[in-house]
Amino acid sequence: MRMSKHLEYVNCNLCASEDHKTLEVFTSSDLENVNKSLVSLRKKPLYVPKNQFYVVKCKNCGLVFLNPRLNKGALKIFYESFYSKLLKGKNVSFESSVYSSINLSQEKGRLKEIQNLNPLAKKILDIGAGPGHFLSVAKKEGWKVYGQEYSKAASRIAKREFGIHIYVGEIDNLPYPDNFFDIVTMHSVIEHTIDPSKYLQIARRKLKPGGMVVFSVPNLYCFDYLSSKLLILSYPGFIFEHLYYFSKKTVSAFLKKTDLQLICLTSKHHSRPNLPEVNNFPSNNFGPNKLELFFDQLTKSKDKSLYIRMRIYLFASRLAKEFLEYNHYGGMLKLGSIFYVFAQKPIRENQK
Ligand SMILES: [Zn+2]
Repeated sequence: MRMSKHLEYVNCNLCASEDHKTLEVFTSSDLENVNKSLVSLRKKPLYVPKNQFYVVKCKNCGLVFLNPRLNKGALKIFYESFYSKLLKGKNVSFESSVYSSINLSQEKGRLKEIQNLNPLAKKILDIGAGPGHFLSVAKKEGWKVYGQEYSKAASRIAKREFGIHIYVGEIDNLPYPDNFFDIVTMHSVIEHTIDPSKYLQIARRKLKPGGMVVFSVPNLYCFDYLSSKLLILSYPGFIFEHLYYFSKKTVSAFLKKTDLQLICLTSKHHSRPNLPEVNNFPSNNFGPNKLELFFDQLTKSKDKSLYIRMRIYLFASRLAKEFLEYNHYGGMLKLGSIFYVFAQKPIRENQK
């Protein structure tokens, strides 16, 4: 394969092994959309041969990740343009947008879970805070809120919409003391980063002893993935922005590696809404919309068996979505597409 200046090859982030096998190859239609948007912003498109990405599994520890993947520079171009586009949107009132109302109720639920486990906690750091939705909810509830984000555009939205200052820059340079926070959250962040181990290490360092890190990551072996494999289909949940996919085993291994104690691991079905105001950008959604796109393409194909398998998949996936999202079974069975993880920094500091 001709190496693109936008791609890089990596070793396993969990165990550093070079040894892996390919699980699946997928072609990203999202990347085409991203490139159209980049061109419309007068930026150069990101070059990936055939828009293809390789999902690999570490032969030593089982971690699943993209290899090669977009490198740091390319990811920066992507995320910065994503939020620029939001900022330039004609009427980006987050409070009134559909995205915001659905999103804010999710954020309220997330905060409540944290409060239930930590009634006395009041100081929170949100890593990868984006435009500050979650922190705005916490602020209203009287928390002292702090955030980190790479995108200047996103932090400007946070300032403008919610009056929240978010630090823009590398997490290595966070301007907050160690042992400072009650809670560190990383919601849908770790899978987007090039170095999950580092993120967990820094979260741990910034926490007070006994403090809690709360994060969510994609659950690879969720219902949708397992049913796609059963029906011999490619899994539509792989996207190029998600550099890592997790299992119970690899989440536990990451926590062990970073000396964090698992308190609770549950799963939910992905239910992120579209971003209606950003037409040209991928909506990052797993689930029906993306499936419907596949299905549309399929109706044009002549492969009857594929057609039937896709229909079954679509049907099963919708049923599962209802079941996993609105019941506790999703959490119990760990079959939802997102893991929610609560882990604690040990109260007695280990010598490290
Ligand atoms: Zn490994």
